[in-house]
Amino acid sequence: MPNQETTKPRRVAILGATGSIGQSGLDVVASSCGRLVPVTLTAHSQTAKLAELARRFKPETIVVTDPQADRTPLAPLARSVRILYGPEGIDEAVSAPDVDIVLSAIVGGAGLRGTWRSLEAGKTVALANKESLVLAGPLLFDLARRTGGRILPVDSEHSAVWQAIASRAPALTPYGTAGGAGGKDQIRRLILTASGGPFRTKTLDELPRVTVADALAHPTWKMGKKITIDSATMMNKAFEIIEARWLFDLPPEKIGVVIHPQSVIHSMVEFIDGAVLAQLGTADMRLPIQLALSEMTRFPCPAPPLDWTKIQNLELIPPDEKRFAAIPLGRRVAREGGSSGAVVNAANEVAVAAFLAGKIPFHKIIEIVQAILDHHQFEKEPALERLFELDRQARRETQKWISD
Ligand code: NAD
Ligand code: MG
Repeated sequence: MPNQETTKPRRVAILGATGSIGQSGLDVVASSCGRLVPVTLTAHSQTAKLAELARRFKPETIVVTDPQADRTPLAPLARSVRILYGPEGIDEAVSAPDVDIVLSAIVGGAGLRGTWRSLEAGKTVALANKESLVLAGPLLFDLARRTGGRILPVDSEHSAVWQAIASRAPALTPYGTAGGAGGKDQIRRLILTASGGPFRTKTLDELPRVTVADALAHPTWKMGKKITIDSATMMNKAFEIIEARWLFDLPPEKIGVVIHPQSVIHSMVEFIDGAVLAQLGTADMRLPIQLALSEMTRFPCPAPPLDWTKIQNLELIPPDEKRFAAIPLGRRVAREGGSSGAVVNAANEVAVAAFLAGKIPFHKIIEIVQAILDHHQFEKEPALERLFELDRQARRETQKWISD
């Protein structure tokens, strides 16, 4: 129950435990004084790291999703922990009756499976994997409505919005958050903040010459590689517009973006009377993760507080949408829905991997994604299986585009 201290420990499954969000999630669990208990940890291929985490956190179940992963580091654990292999392992782990909440923190479209299965089992999902909503936002909320599952935001911007909305109506959760009585109709717009990434001040002419190392050097956030590149192209903000569209059930016209290089204001909600509520804090994912895992129960968090003596200024700059072409692209996908999200997500994943592998220059990423989106045959209401097909198809087409 939001805003109430409950004594019963919440049993957490962490999907993507070896990643950046997974590690921050484990940090939160470790400092929660027993409020949060890790029961399941998953990793794709880093089995040595997973074994180390299993020894430290003593989960009941671990899952290794990559069938090719080296299983040797896990052998000594076989007696003390249940070990599942392959993506199917996730299905079994998240639907176990003793799991209260699932931290969905796998990167990319691969994360949809865990989000889907968790909701199917009626669980609450603390959602870091924004790609789940980009791919299948309306389907996931339909599913949640049928099963009683819920989606709580982990993304810092959406957590800030959740906090701002909850401050006026604590009982509302983001799942249909604002949709509650007297909720959504009181919101004029959301203002998502964006750091602007490492290339905020670069001109369009300079972008073709930036290197992978330049793109990975995010000025304010330390994250996994894929989302760091998405932040540099601003595709991350495009995804966050789509995420907010489904999470808060608001039309894209009501979701604005402002560049805020200091990453102190995590986002804002403007109400119809003109009041603007924001949430401020350090650029540290442990707070939004903790808020989602605890359903907004507040207790001390390992993230350091803001040092107000060091904040000189807080800038808010309107984005140049010509330079940050991903922003209008995101708004378009949020408006279209249907097959567009799956296509954009798949094309982006392939293009980002190609950039990281040195196969395409940085400025081509958004160009390619845009081209793949423009050339696909739009479908209004694809079902889940069809979305997976469209995902595979878009990946193939993007690969072809890159190698031609
Ligand atoms: P990461 O690359 O650091 O970690 C990814 C995790 O996913 C790892 O545990 C890896 O083992 C697992 N994984 C990778 N491929 C997989 C596959 N095919 N199947 C199953 N598991 C797989 O990524 P991250 O930065 O922690 O991001 C995770 C998610 O959280 C992303 O969707 C990202 O957009 C979102 N997110 C991250 C941050 C952040 O600060 N890192 C902030 C907001 C949202
Ligand atoms: Mg974010």
